[in-house]
Amino acid sequence: SGPSLAVIGNPVRHSISPQMHNAAIAKLAEKDERFSNWKYFRFEIPAELLIESLPIFREKGFLGLNLTVPHKEIAVPATAEIDPLAKTIGAVNTLQKTENGWKGFNTDGYGLAQGIKISLSKEIAHSDFVLLGAGGAARAAAIQAIHYGCATLTIVNRNQERLGKLVNELRPLAEKSGVELRSLSPQSIDELHSDCLLVNATSLGLKPDDPTPIPESKIPENAYCFDMIYNPPTTKLMEIVRLKGGTTANGLGMLVHQGAKALSIWTGQDAPSEIMQEAAEAALAKH
Ligand code: NDP
Repeated sequence: SGPSLAVIGNPVRHSISPQMHNAAIAKLAEKDERFSNWKYFRFEIPAELLIESLPIFREKGFLGLNLTVPHKEIAVPATAEIDPLAKTIGAVNTLQKTENGWKGFNTDGYGLAQGIKISLSKEIAHSDFVLLGAGGAARAAAIQAIHYGCATLTIVNRNQERLGKLVNELRPLAEKSGVELRSLSPQSIDELHSDCLLVNATSLGLKPDDPTPIPESKIPENAYCFDMIYNPPTTKLMEIVRLKGGTTANGLGMLVHQGAKALSIWTGQDAPSEIMQEAAEAALAKH
């Protein structure tokens, strides 16, 4: 058998990365037969077994791995080399086999930026970026937003201790880049700019009865809203933003583009992101 790739997580059964990547690999193989025997798998590995399993994947011929919950942070000390952006984020979602071990990358922030650009026709640069959440996905998003030069970054989270910790870590980065950084609780939001970029990085919206992450009355008119959630395809937050005249996109574009970037790291080729998007949509429709 040929070179292998995989996503590792726990749980991972719901992951549509294998369908997305195998469709892209088939497309690449049409033009370059080197890719005809590549295959992307998925493995459920508990957190406590990750570190010892990473060298085994290398020995067994895996060229690249994607990591998902709960492995993104745990894997950092196990990398032989780490991309500077991933190091700043403190989490890796992509590993590439090198001579010395695994090199870690984080393509989640890139995926988010591409998703926003393509599905909302909105640039992060110079935006009023309003980030809902302070967990792992929010952290990657905040660092990417500063990296791309948003004008202001407002982070809103329920747990104030977690929020304070994240904001303290981000402050030096924001100051260096001239980004105005603010933190708020969902209740203390005053008025958000009408053309702000509202990004949901909380898990509120995964369940049909979930409330919106900020009170409905605080959602501005004509906002641009990117919800990282893609299953379900529409959240209550997205519905309200649309009722108030705004533009919305779900998180599928983020998943597709973080995957496309990972695939291009492994293959050295441009990844066929439209094929990956179609495969992801088809896989979700079967769920
Ligand atoms: P974490 O567990 O690290 O963070 C969860 C966040 O959600 C925290 O800010 C938490 O707030 C908030 N939250 C959870 N429950 C509630 C609640 N009942 N009320 C208010 N806030 C709540 O998760 P991740 O950062 O890994 O993931 C966040 C979301 O992003 C998930 O929905 C995930 O599916 C999505 N995601 C999408 C990706 C994509 O490719 N599209 C990639 C990665 C993530 P608090 O601190 O107050 O608990």
